[in-house]
Amino acid sequence: MGEFELIERYFKRAPQRAVLGVGDDCALLQPSPGHQLAISSDMLLEGRHFLSSVDPLRLGHKALAVNLSDLAACAAKPLAFTLALALPWIDPPWLEAFSRGLFALADEHGCELIGGDTTRGPLNICITVFGEVPTLAGRAQALPRSGARAGDDLYVSGTLGDARLALEVFRGTVSLPAPVFELARRRMEQPTPRVALGLALRGVASAAIDISDGLLGDLGHILRASRVGATLDVDIATDLVASYALCTGRTAEFDVDIEVGRWRQFALAGGDDYELLFTAAPTQREAVAAASHAAHTPVTRIGQINAEAGLRLLDARGQPVRNDYTGFDHFA
Ligand code: ADP
Ligand code: MG
Repeated sequence: MGEFELIERYFKRAPQRAVLGVGDDCALLQPSPGHQLAISSDMLLEGRHFLSSVDPLRLGHKALAVNLSDLAACAAKPLAFTLALALPWIDPPWLEAFSRGLFALADEHGCELIGGDTTRGPLNICITVFGEVPTLAGRAQALPRSGARAGDDLYVSGTLGDARLALEVFRGTVSLPAPVFELARRRMEQPTPRVALGLALRGVASAAIDISDGLLGDLGHILRASRVGATLDVDIATDLVASYALCTGRTAEFDVDIEVGRWRQFALAGGDDYELLFTAAPTQREAVAAASHAAHTPVTRIGQINAEAGLRLLDARGQPVRNDYTGFDHFA
């Protein structure tokens, strides 16, 4: 099988919304009237962003999911994506599973593959997504990182830290009972992009970001862009680690030997969560609850934005917690 047969067989489908899709020199895409395009790229490299042992179906899902997560953070509606793929060799079962996982998520979000590039090389997957955001008086109604104001509530969607916990199991630094590992592994390998929540938060949230490098690291981006500080309840955040709920407390089903500081580390600086971290004025609490309900996505209030710069961590009793949790940086 050659390059063109590969594209034809695994990646070419009849154009839906696109004016011109896979097969020409350029794709043509017409955004809806009164909208701006939202564009984002994410690259996944074997060994750095995923393990070589990962199920290709889950990898196809994740490659698109991390990109859709960026659209979600901006409250952009997914339209289309391109796929640049480097493959060491043509492996039909791998390509079949990869494209199945990719298209399953694409179809769920009405996001169409409109082009790409295919080359031989170490396994590398680069996707660029295109979404659209309505404009009001010429301004895109996107959620920026820079909109947080003193007094705003700080929220996070879904759960935190389980992806990092699973990575630590693969690294051999922790061990987990099989059912807990399965849950954590699914969060690592098949994250759910919070697209519906992002859209529902348009006009409700003041700032948003998706958590890819860890809660505190990504919160830092909002604080810097908005020139504000924040106070965060570390224990509420740690309770959002789904595996933690399964392994601690009175109703714990499993007994796991991980100290509380480590659970906090997973929650605050785990990375690979792909949840939305956002701020909203306290007057928007009902609107936030309605958005969460409409999007079938739980959200939890974990802190508050302050005028005073810097990040203050408190435990459930209101005692300060030292911040020695750092986010992920590929070059650090
Ligand atoms: P060109 O030589 O003009 O760059 P290519 O030979 O790279 O074109 O690709 C042929 C067509 O297939 C183009 O429309 C391109 O967008 C599409 N394409 C290539 N690789 C992929 C891929 N992995 N997924 C989807 N479309 C692809
Ligand atoms: Mg090309």
